[in-house]
Amino acid sequence: MWNIINGGSKARFQLWVFISMTVSYWQDAHKRKLVEEADVAIIGGGIMGAACAYWLSKRTGLKVVVIEAQKRGSGASARNGGFVLRGLFAYYHQAVAAYGRETACRLLHFNDDTHRYLADFVSAHGNSFFYEPCGSYLLACSPEELQALEESAQLMRDDGFEVEYLNTDPLKRNYHGALFNKTDVGVHSGLLVDSLFQASGVPVYEGESVWRIDRAQGGKVKLYTTERELTCGRVLMVTNAYSPLLEPWFVDKVQAVRGQIVVTKPLKKRIIDKLCYANYGWEYFRQLPDMRFLLGGCRELFRAEEVGYADMVTQPVQTALHNYLQDRFPEAAAMPVDYRWSGIMAFTKDELPIIGELIQQPVVVGQQPESVPGVFYAVGCNGHGMGYSFALSKLLVEVAMDGADAGIFGSERLLNSAGVSWMHALV
Ligand SMILES: Cc1cc2nc3c(=O)[nH]c(=O)nc-3n(C[C@H](O)[C@H](O)[C@H](O)COP(=O)(O)OP(=O)(O)OC[C@H]3O[C@@H](n4cnc5c(N)ncnc54)[C@H](O)[C@@H]3O)c2cc1C
Repeated sequence: MWNIINGGSKARFQLWVFISMTVSYWQDAHKRKLVEEADVAIIGGGIMGAACAYWLSKRTGLKVVVIEAQKRGSGASARNGGFVLRGLFAYYHQAVAAYGRETACRLLHFNDDTHRYLADFVSAHGNSFFYEPCGSYLLACSPEELQALEESAQLMRDDGFEVEYLNTDPLKRNYHGALFNKTDVGVHSGLLVDSLFQASGVPVYEGESVWRIDRAQGGKVKLYTTERELTCGRVLMVTNAYSPLLEPWFVDKVQAVRGQIVVTKPLKKRIIDKLCYANYGWEYFRQLPDMRFLLGGCRELFRAEEVGYADMVTQPVQTALHNYLQDRFPEAAAMPVDYRWSGIMAFTKDELPIIGELIQQPVVVGQQPESVPGVFYAVGCNGHGMGYSFALSKLLVEVAMDGADAGIFGSERLLNSAGVSWMHALV
């Protein structure tokens, strides 16, 4: 168990970790190591790692490898709800207020790019991951939320996005109305990760943690994993919530937050046929292709308890999920539960991902931070990594390989954010 306490706020920066990300002298010294070279190494085998591998496989002549501490998808990527949404952590009118009209509009177009790339991927490689272009409802739980959805719908329409506003409940489950995004899709997230890796043909070294990143001769980078020493031209770090455990620079920039889900046995009838997001996204549910009911969320009731790395389900959140089902979907509440799980997401202060070149923050006071040229990261998916996946990974590859500009996701915006408070994920 490992514990980082940073900046005096014990509750916020206390990270309990049950898998070790450090390696001891006894574990490493004198161990026979594989020595290998690659043009590009990807650290992290989630949806972002898989999509980076896919984009890199379209460039000829590159030797690419993926290092994954556990198994592919075993971070958040095969533990989520499988919603590929165009939306952000906030509703559109909130995004406009927070980032400005132009940026909010660019962000939505950016996520619409993921939808387009995903549809292209299905056309090229087939649908082996239950791709379901069913659209999504954002559902209002109060008259105030309905007003917020109306405002969002109006702004979206004005900015050229196709969206439908409904002032009655499309589900007839005591919601006040909804906003319908017809482009949103559902997927089996684990199978999507597998499909991307398969299409890329890139090897994935599973069960291998990167525990040290160093500069090497000739402008290269050396990665030390539990099994090998890997010298590479470029490194893409897509470790999302786990980034602070590898590189302390991320400690005050990426916050680990747990999400929990419940899935029932198959229902007899289909009761919903869209992806559903309610209460500003704090609760989300869908009926899966095999008729099971999936519900996630209720974290907002226990925000402090749901911060950190403990990957476990808890009685308060699971009880709240059960009560939600009883209130709104008694048919689902009556079914036995087959699966309960948790996963760890990464939030940033302004709820947008960050892309940049790695800076190593010394753990000894008085030493200076140093940049590590050639190591680029895209982390902090803010609970929407499936929606960002294809477009964000493509941008990361272009930043790392072609020197493209990270634009709105550039990490410079968070460099002097010590006094800036977290938006609404954690407060
Ligand atoms: C309960 C829950 C529900 C969610 N629902 C949705 C949803 O419906 N739609 C949506 O868009 N998003 C959802 N999300 C968020 C989404 O799952 C994430 O944003 C997304 O999976 C992030 O992908 P990633 O590849 O960046 O990170 P991850 O999937 O977390 O992958 C990072 C990988 O890096 C590996 N790693 C870490 N450190 C090292 C190291 N030192 N060496 C080697 N490997 C390392 C980890 O083992 C991990 O596999 C949800 C998340 C949770 C937890």
